[in-house]
Amino acid sequence: MSIRDQIADLAFPNANIDMLQALEEKIATRNLAPGQMVTRMAPSPTGFVHLGSIYMGLINTTLARQSGGVCMLRIEDTDQKRQLDDGIAQILTAFHTLHIHFGEGPVLEGAEKGDFGPYIQSHRKDIYQAYAKALIRDGKAYPCFCSSEELDKVRDEQTLKKERTGYYGKYARCRDLSDAEILQKLQAGASFVVRIRSNGSHENRMDVKDIIRGTRSVPQNDMDAIIIKASDGLPTYHFAHVIDDHLMGTTHVLRGDEWFPSLPLHMEMFYIMGWKAPKYAHLSPIQKMDGTAKRKLSKRKDPEANIEFFLEQGYPVNAILEYLLNLANSDFEDWRKKNPALPLADFALDLKKTSPSGALFDLDKLNSISRRIISEYSNTEAYDLALAWAERFSPAFYPRMANEASYIKAILNIERENVRRRKDITRWGTLQDDISYFFDDLFTAPDLATVTGKNPDVLKAVLSGFMGALEHATDRDAWWEATKAATDAAGFCSDTKAYKANPDAFHGSIADFMKIVRLALIGREDSPDVHEIMMVMGLEKVKTRLAKHM
Ligand code: GLU
Repeated sequence: MSIRDQIADLAFPNANIDMLQALEEKIATRNLAPGQMVTRMAPSPTGFVHLGSIYMGLINTTLARQSGGVCMLRIEDTDQKRQLDDGIAQILTAFHTLHIHFGEGPVLEGAEKGDFGPYIQSHRKDIYQAYAKALIRDGKAYPCFCSSEELDKVRDEQTLKKERTGYYGKYARCRDLSDAEILQKLQAGASFVVRIRSNGSHENRMDVKDIIRGTRSVPQNDMDAIIIKASDGLPTYHFAHVIDDHLMGTTHVLRGDEWFPSLPLHMEMFYIMGWKAPKYAHLSPIQKMDGTAKRKLSKRKDPEANIEFFLEQGYPVNAILEYLLNLANSDFEDWRKKNPALPLADFALDLKKTSPSGALFDLDKLNSISRRIISEYSNTEAYDLALAWAERFSPAFYPRMANEASYIKAILNIERENVRRRKDITRWGTLQDDISYFFDDLFTAPDLATVTGKNPDVLKAVLSGFMGALEHATDRDAWWEATKAATDAAGFCSDTKAYKANPDAFHGSIADFMKIVRLALIGREDSPDVHEIMMVMGLEKVKTRLAKHM
C-alpha cells in the first residue's frame, strides 16, 4: 500500500471509494432530451420558511416543468448545529401548502421520491467522505491540522499586513506537509479538516458565466477551502453541492446571489473533480423599501419575510403565487391583462427577465392581486377556502363559518355573478370584519345624527320613506322606482342632473339618501349592492335595523 493510500485510509477508514463509479454511471439514466432542465431547490432547515425560499422554489419548479424536466428538493442540513428539529417538516409543509411540488426529494410521509437520492445531505455522508478520500489519495485534497487559534493568528497577521485573509498560498501551512508528517499526525489521532488543493492564482483572471448577469471576469480562486469539517466529518456547502449537483444530474443551479462570489471556487472544484459544471443563475433576494432606501427582506426585522405571515393573513395561495411570478418577471402583468382567465401555469417564465438588482416587495400589489383572485372564485370556492383558513387561524370565527354555511355562502355570492365582480374582499383574515354587519351580535348601530350631521326629522323621513318602498322589495326594478320616489318625497333628489344644477334646493342627492340608509342598515357608507344585501339578510332583519332609528 502506498503512503498516500495509507493516509486516505486513515483519514476515512470506513469510506468506500469503489461505490462511486456506480453512482456516476447512474447520471446517464436521466436520459435528458435537449433543453430539458434538471433544477433543484436546496433549502437548509435552519428556521422558518422565508418568502424568498418559496419564490426560489416556484422559479425552480416552473422552469423545470416548462422544459419537460424535473425539479428536486434537496435538504442541505450539513450544518448540524443550526438545524431545527422540525426544520425539514416545516419546509415540506410550506411547499406543499403553497402548491409547489417537486418531482424528487423527501416527502412528508413515507420514502423519498426519485432515483438519485438520498436527497437529505446528512444521509449522504458516506458519499462525500468517499470522494474526499479519493481526492486525498490523488493529492487533490489534504488533511489540515491547523487549530482555530493558529488560523486566528494567521488572520491577524494578514489583517495587519493588509493582505487578503484566508487559507491560501504561503498561508496554507498544511498544504506543504510531507506525506510522512501527515501519516504521523493521523496515526497520533490528530483532529483534521480536509481542504481542497487549489491550483489557482489570485493574479490570474477567469470568466464566470451567470444566466442573469452574463459573463464576468473575476480573479481565480486560490483558497484551499475546507471540504470536510473536523467536528462531524460532514462536508461544507461548497463540496456537498458540487458532488450532489453532479451526481443528481442538475443542469441549472438557481440560487441566492450571496453565492456569486464563491463561483470561482465552485468552478475550480468541478475542474478538480473532472466534471462539467451545471449552468448557474444567481438571483437577488426580494427587497423592500425601508424609508427611502431599498434593503433585502430581513428574517429578523420583517414579519413578511416568513411565508407563514401570508397564510395567517389569509392570502389565497394562488394570490401569493401570482404575486411571486409578478415579482419574478416584469412582463407578467401584461400577460395577465391579455389572458385574464388562463391558469398561472401557462405563463412562460423567463429567467433572463428576472431583475438582477432584486424585485421589490409591494404589499399593495399583493392586495390588489388577492382581491382579484378572490373575486374570481365561485361563492362555494371562496367559502371553502375561507373556512379552511378560519379552521387553522381563527378559532373565534371558525364556528360561525362552519355553522352558518348557507348564510355565509349567500353573503359571499353578493355581486359575485355580475360582469363586474365585487372586489371588496382582500384576504380571509379580514372577512369576518367585512361581513360582520350581517350578524346582529357583531353589529352596533351607529348614532345617525352624529355620523351624518343631519337633522333627526330628515333622517326619519329618509328611513320611513325607504321602509315604505320595501313593500316592492321582491321586484328589484319596482323597488328602485319606489325608492327614487321616496328620495324625492324626503326632500332629496333622485335625478343626478337636477341635483347638480341646484344642490342647495335639496337635502342631498340620491347617493346621500342611500348613504343614510346604508348607515342605518349596516353601519357603513360603502357596501356592495344594497338590494342584494337586503335579500340575503332577510326583510325582517332589515326592518328591525331601520326601525331602531325611527
Ligand atoms: N443551502 C443553500 C442555501 O440555502 C442552497 C444554495 C443552493 O441552492 O445551492 O443558501
